[in-house]
Amino acid sequence: MGIDAVDSGKKCDLDYTKTSYGVYVNAAMGAWNNINGSVVFRKDTLTVLEDAKFKDQANPPGSNSRAMAATLVNGSNSTVTFFTNQMNHSSVSDVERKTAVVHELGHLLGIFHIGTENACRGNVMDEMNRAYGISFGLDDIYALGKARATW
Ligand SMILES: [Zn+2]
Repeated sequence: MGIDAVDSGKKCDLDYTKTSYGVYVNAAMGAWNNINGSVVFRKDTLTVLEDAKFKDQANPPGSNSRAMAATLVNGSNSTVTFFTNQMNHSSVSDVERKTAVVHELGHLLGIFHIGTENACRGNVMDEMNRAYGISFGLDDIYALGKARATW
């Protein structure tokens, strides 16, 4: 999944007023922003156009059993809409919810999935990740550095 929702100011402004899981979005933003103390994710404001927004949907298109699915709006990267899959999301633990949002925010930064070999276990951006919490692995940090170079 190749998405880069970071704007020209190297920020990603999120609108999460329309999801019932905003508390997890907030926690996930903090997790990424804390990696090296530079704020990338911000809550959007009235005067800032959002780069991505979250919405809840019972059965998001193409999501099958996944916790979340991302859909590009208007066929461009200008605004990315994340549909929270409520069928799945309502039945998982708080840690899994938080982890799912941290993972999806990683895609907004332009990070792809990290390999699924055993050596890669423990990374937030492992595509099999369900409950690694919000601690990042070395491969996550490396991938963030590579993505940052493209913003
Ligand atoms: Zn993913």
